[in-house]
Amino acid sequence: MGFRLFGFALALALLLGGGEAARAQDGKVHLLWLGQSSFRLTTPGGKVIMIDPWVLQNPKTPAEWKDLDKLGKVDLVLVSHAHGDHVGDAPAIAKKNHVQMWGPAGLADTMVELGILTPEEAPRMNKGGTITPLGPGIAISQTRADHSSEFVYVNPDTKKREVHVGGEPVGLIIKLENGFTIYHMGDTNVFGDMKMIGEYYKPDLILIPIGGHFVMDPKEAALATTLVKPKFAIPVHYGTIPQLKGTPDEYKAALGQTDTKVMVMTPGETATF
Ligand SMILES: [Zn+2]
Repeated sequence: MGFRLFGFALALALLLGGGEAARAQDGKVHLLWLGQSSFRLTTPGGKVIMIDPWVLQNPKTPAEWKDLDKLGKVDLVLVSHAHGDHVGDAPAIAKKNHVQMWGPAGLADTMVELGILTPEEAPRMNKGGTITPLGPGIAISQTRADHSSEFVYVNPDTKKREVHVGGEPVGLIIKLENGFTIYHMGDTNVFGDMKMIGEYYKPDLILIPIGGHFVMDPKEAALATTLVKPKFAIPVHYGTIPQLKGTPDEYKAALGQTDTKVMVMTPGETATF
């Protein structure tokens, strides 16, 4: 009886969050896609990094994730540029967890200027060099991205729309404790220096926009993939709004025979490496 009760308690514990705890300590990379360019990354050492976290207003985020409490503890927030579908809930998540939001330097300045974040919550960095805000095991660099980065804001006092400096858009290179390297490309068109980014940082995985109109379409994304030569590619930033017409099937067709494994995800799914 006692054993059965213990077994029941254990099963319940696993059900109630033991799974999350196990996930955090299994030495693997877990990437939960929340739609558009929004990911929750759990590192092999159990750190949790939110990237471009647009959750509450994101039409592709499953209902079960539309609650910032559900994300669990977060250790760091990264933002690729100032557009609303990328900044999204980043300041709220940084405040809630008492952690830093790293993005383009100009966006950090605007966050401080508008009183959204403090200078401690929004430190400045830029393209070039590497930061290690979670300790030496996790290295983060910003790369070029061919896009724009206006910060559109409704002033709570005047209720009027304002456009502020958002810094330059960036791609994010995240090298994890076990060496696994992720290139979150941000919003971008294809550019020739992606070849150099691939050769220098040797990303295992790219998170690549394919929707077109504002970012690469499937053909441009296929060219970008051949320049970077990653082991894995997860297509993102498509289907969220009508202009983002590109599909994973078109991307795979444009890519043809390749050594890169394309992983097509559904929002709410977790990829493990
Ligand atoms: Zn954008």
